Amino acid sequence: MVRCNNCGKIFANENDIPLLVEWKNGETKLLEVGKFTKPGGETFRGCPHCMTDAYLMDMEESKNES
Ligand SMILES: [Zn+2]
Repeated sequence: MVRCNNCGKIFANENDIPLLVEWKNGETKLLEVGKFTKPGGETFRGCPHCMTDAYLMDMEESKNES
C-alpha cells in the first residue's frame, strides 16, 4: 500500500499509482493512456492530486501489532 501524505490518497500498490509526465517547462500532467509520449518529458508515478511523488510513502500492509 502506498499513501500520499499530502492529500491522504491511498493506492493499493505501485501499479495503482497513475503515471505523470513532467515536461521540461516544469508542467506536470497526467499521462494520458493511448497518447504518444513526446520526447523531453519525464514520466514517473505520482499522486494525481498533488502532481508529485514527493509525498508518497510505502505503508506496511500487515500491521496487526498495536
Ligand atoms: Zn496527493
